[in-house]
Amino acid sequence: MEKRIVIIGSGFAGLWAALAAARAIDLQGASDRIEVVVVSPRPALVIRPRLYEAAIENMDPDLSALFAATGVKHFAGKIEHIHTRTRRLEITSTAGELNELSYDRLVLATGSTLYTPPVPGLEAFGFNVDQHDDARVLQAHLAELAGKPPSSARNTVVVVGGGFTGIETAAEMPARLRKILGEDTPVRAVLIECADQVGPEMGDTPRPIIEAALTECGVELVTGTRVELIDADGLLTTSGERIDAATVVWTAGARAHPLAAQIPGAHDALGRIEVDAYLRAPEADAVFATGDVAHAATDALGNVAAMSCQHALSLGRVAGYNAAASLLDLPQHPYSQPKYVTCLDLGPWGALYTEGWDRQVRLTREEGKQLKREINTKWIYPPAADKAAAFAVANPDFVIVP
Ligand SMILES: Cc1cc2nc3c(=O)[nH]c(=O)nc-3n(C[C@H](O)[C@H](O)[C@H](O)COP(=O)(O)OP(=O)(O)OC[C@H]3O[C@@H](n4cnc5c(N)ncnc54)[C@H](O)[C@@H]3O)c2cc1C
Repeated sequence: MEKRIVIIGSGFAGLWAALAAARAIDLQGASDRIEVVVVSPRPALVIRPRLYEAAIENMDPDLSALFAATGVKHFAGKIEHIHTRTRRLEITSTAGELNELSYDRLVLATGSTLYTPPVPGLEAFGFNVDQHDDARVLQAHLAELAGKPPSSARNTVVVVGGGFTGIETAAEMPARLRKILGEDTPVRAVLIECADQVGPEMGDTPRPIIEAALTECGVELVTGTRVELIDADGLLTTSGERIDAATVVWTAGARAHPLAAQIPGAHDALGRIEVDAYLRAPEADAVFATGDVAHAATDALGNVAAMSCQHALSLGRVAGYNAAASLLDLPQHPYSQPKYVTCLDLGPWGALYTEGWDRQVRLTREEGKQLKREINTKWIYPPAADKAAAFAVANPDFVIVP
């Protein structure tokens, strides 16, 4: 092989970057000259948007057959260091060996991780739903509650952070707890948000709907206060309220993966690389950033991609295409994603679907839920392991929107 594109990460952005790069190379008949290598711990796509659900099985579909069908190579390991000046990567393979890999183009797609502030007890006693293993730990802990003596702490879950993930996690909890502890058990689910209202970024139109839905699901809302400390039996808020709870789920604050800090140039407050219109890291030679590690303008109005699956799917396609195009002497494709939607799962109440950055409410309750199911079980899953089918939806301007 003459040239190599390395994509770090096989999440939404990494997967679609790989398919878009492989498609562009295939279309130019250059598959014998340029290889696409994905490096990630496993050839799997973790469906992070569903990790708040009770059943987390089938949430990491295997990508081996899809990669084989599309000519994408996979290296199982973790990148430790990126040397942008020498275009070299240091990798610890899944088997524990240290390896090096050089690249001609690099696409960083390592996503985001939950930021955990130094709250006493958070690391020891807190749970979260950020990664697949985290969700598994929470699932096992909740299942074990059934064998413990009844108490108000056992029967209570506190979710910290009233953003998207916190709202979706909390809305599920009363029904999830009752299923584990018995339908007649008096369960308690509390959502704590430090702003004065839940969903601080949701805007004034959807917020009352969200508040009413959470209340209908049986979630208590505690706003305008922070968590002071967490222990084995619950937590204390900064306003002095003690809540007995065997389960505290932290959801507040995502940050770009730490590898983003190894790419020279400007980074935003979330640690994301400030990329140009083609998703290139302007101060690093031959490096593209995509998905949750990229701070990218979605339109000419000043909107910026959210750390979201919705944006990662398109950002991935564009970054992968551009990495390949730059080796194929093709023009770069600008990233643009002016349509923005959200579909928020609100448990047994249903789901809330909005359109636009001003979040116009379009669907609620069961109508919204049907759309959420469609998104969560079809749209964000990988395509079939068939080259033609995968490449048919791997062009850089392909977008799924309702
Ligand atoms: C509970 C929850 C609910 C969510 N709900 C929604 C929602 O409703 N709608 C929405 O749009 N978004 C939602 N999101 C956000 C969405 O999941 C992320 O924005 C999306 O996963 C970002 O995609 P990505 O490809 O950038 O990163 P990721 O999907 O995180 O993928 C990162 C990849 O990088 C790999 N990796 C990490 N470190 C290394 C390393 N050192 N070396 C090699 N590989 C590495 C990982 O294994 C993984 O393959 C939710 C997230 C969570 C956690």
